[in-house]
Amino acid sequence: MEGLALRLFKKSPVKEVAFTQKIKQLFNSPPNKNNWDGLIHAYKPWLPVTKKTPIITLKEGGTPLIEVKSISDRIGKGVRVYVKYDGLNPTGSFKDRGMTMAISKAKEDGCEAVICASTGNTSASAAAYASKGGMRAFVIIPDGYVAQGKLAQALVYGAEVLAIKGNFDKALDIVRELSNKYPITLVNSVNPYRLQGQKTAAFEIIENLGNAPDWLCIPMGNAGNISAYWMGFQEFFKAKKSKQLPRMMGFQASGSAPLVEGKSISNPETIATAIRIGNPVNKEKALIARESSKGNFSSVTDTEIINAYKILGREEGIFCEPASAASVAGLLKKKEDVPKNSTIVCVLTGNGLKDPDCAIENNDSVFHKSVDPEISSITKVMGF
Ligand SMILES: *Cc1c(COP(=O)(O)O)cnc(C)c1O
Repeated sequence: MEGLALRLFKKSPVKEVAFTQKIKQLFNSPPNKNNWDGLIHAYKPWLPVTKKTPIITLKEGGTPLIEVKSISDRIGKGVRVYVKYDGLNPTGSFKDRGMTMAISKAKEDGCEAVICASTGNTSASAAAYASKGGMRAFVIIPDGYVAQGKLAQALVYGAEVLAIKGNFDKALDIVRELSNKYPITLVNSVNPYRLQGQKTAAFEIIENLGNAPDWLCIPMGNAGNISAYWMGFQEFFKAKKSKQLPRMMGFQASGSAPLVEGKSISNPETIATAIRIGNPVNKEKALIARESSKGNFSSVTDTEIINAYKILGREEGIFCEPASAASVAGLLKKKEDVPKNSTIVCVLTGNGLKDPDCAIENNDSVFHKSVDPEISSITKVMGF
């Protein structure tokens, strides 16, 4: 580069130095990454914040949109499939997008403690942002149904964790009542600031693609995220930042599919614990998103979820948690309905590292145990 600069600016040493520096800057700093200050900074005009709002951030958002050819190839018809890899947020799930808003607003209101019910990721995120904001966090989880990584996070981030003998829906009833009676802020997705923060993922997708996709495939638990995406897509469409709105395609696990079956499920069951929810709090909003986007809700079995989970890992190098794989499993299930040459985004809501037990039990790799530490034994196992 310096040689090129020299040849171009032989006569002017001053320009030469400036030019070399410029080129060095261009090559050393990939756009965005170095000056990304979190989603509130990036999208301030679109969010309910003022100059007085203390911004509590771990630099969430700005996650990659990755093309996944192995999925496009399985669908054919010239379709392009991308994943929005939100498992790369600071605590490993999209919950951070909502939590930076909820905790910043709680701080602005002088709140000193927050509470949530959680299938795991909300508690990890609430615990992290509360600690960053100097608040206490209480989290109520269903005993035995939270993935190890998520529990580990909540404990390390310093939350007070209460495991109850009951499911998520029961835990949510309890925290709603507590937050009504005591001076403690509820940070579940009934908190409206959560959805405000989460809608920014739709903004990022539009900025990456230059338009909204034709379909957005997304897993649904409490259905806050699908509602938030729909809000984001509509806002950018109205502002003429996209030429179209996507169809909102929501997917639930078949043992836990209240929005597909049209009724609450009292004992939801699925390997995808993050979406093991029988009575979604954002049901009304999600139904509106489906209606107004001409979308569709369907269910996928645990077997289909694990199949998609394995494809993403083995063929794309992307490790997501089982709940996230529901979006890809759903797309594969609906492949007959996919329009020719369409662009599709599947949301990968959480990181695979959160649920190591699921990973160890569900993969097609060969794990040779107790191999002798001898070259001859190793080469024999390797097939040489
Ligand atoms: C919370 C969560 C979901 C479900 O999101 P909702 O807004 O409750 O529908 C899906 N996947 C992961 C990994 C989650 O943490």
